[in-house]
Amino acid sequence: MNIIIFGPPGAGKGTQSDFIVKNFNLYKLSTGDLLRNEIKKKTTLGLKITSIVNSGALVSDEIINKLIENIISNKKYHNRIIFDGYPRNLFQAKNLNKLLLKYNQKINIVIKLKVSLDVIKKRIAGRLICSKCSKTFNEFFNPPPKNLTCCKGNFLQKRDDDNVKVAVKRYETYEDTTKPILKFYKKMNLVKDLNGETDIESIQSKINDYLTVIEG
Ligand code: AMP
Repeated sequence: MNIIIFGPPGAGKGTQSDFIVKNFNLYKLSTGDLLRNEIKKKTTLGLKITSIVNSGALVSDEIINKLIENIISNKKYHNRIIFDGYPRNLFQAKNLNKLLLKYNQKINIVIKLKVSLDVIKKRIAGRLICSKCSKTFNEFFNPPPKNLTCCKGNFLQKRDDDNVKVAVKRYETYEDTTKPILKFYKKMNLVKDLNGETDIESIQSKINDYLTVIEG
């Protein structure tokens, strides 16, 4: 199965994706992680997109769609992708459909996490990410190990775009450009709405129920 995990920044998409990856043996395709990796490695692409990502605006569709096709076309990930942070506008959603069709696949479910801006601000302020495995923690809601380590080292870091000002900009981008594409998926009867403000385990349990049905 292929899944889209959908919601504003700080909705818990990364945390829930990690759970799904582990329990359903899927591959997480996070466009944000792919872009941050390019930035970290200071590749030509990375240098080109640093200021865009750090401002909370969207990177061009052309760049994103190329990154995506590299993965969808790979047999290793056939029908086992969880899309986190993609698609982010209607053009990307239509492109994703085309690509999936081209490689004989489809989306099975869109899991939408609903979270208010107040909660998002708090979550983003406390977020820590492992620069090695991309696992997400939160100082307030999902604390990392006491010695602040992951992957046997001091890899926990704050993201450059995780500050309240940029978070508000990212939220506005989500409301204006990303959220409207839910209509596209609602027409395909794929959307399941979940309250993203309840505890991590309750959300996991609901997701688990949905995915177990799909797996049959
Ligand atoms: P995320 O890790 O999903 O919160 O993404 C971090 C940032 O990467 C976003 O604020 C955008 O600047 C960029 N980004 C990630 N995914 C996309 C996408 N699908 N389309 C355009 N820009 C993206």
